[in-house]
Amino acid sequence: MDRLPTRTNLIRRGVELMSPNCVMCQASEESFHHLFLDCSIAQRVWFLCLRWINVLNQVVFNVLKNPNPLKDVEASALLAVAVLV
Ligand SMILES: [Zn+2]
Repeated sequence: MDRLPTRTNLIRRGVELMSPNCVMCQASEESFHHLFLDCSIAQRVWFLCLRWINVLNQVVFNVLKNPNPLKDVEASALLAVAVLV
């Protein structure tokens, strides 16, 4: 995960950038976690992709079946995407 050239990682490697914030939403530092789970724009893209490949209902079902989704970050994020969009 630290290999991705997110803005946070680029700054950590000494690259000078104007801002560490996400280029899509500017709401938070662009880290791996933000880019794939927290970013509102990325969540929208995930939702559209899941709907496009027609697996959205199965993903929501699997997340709801999870007995403790708060321990599973990815499951929680997918549930949030499904609920918010
Ligand atoms: Zn973002």
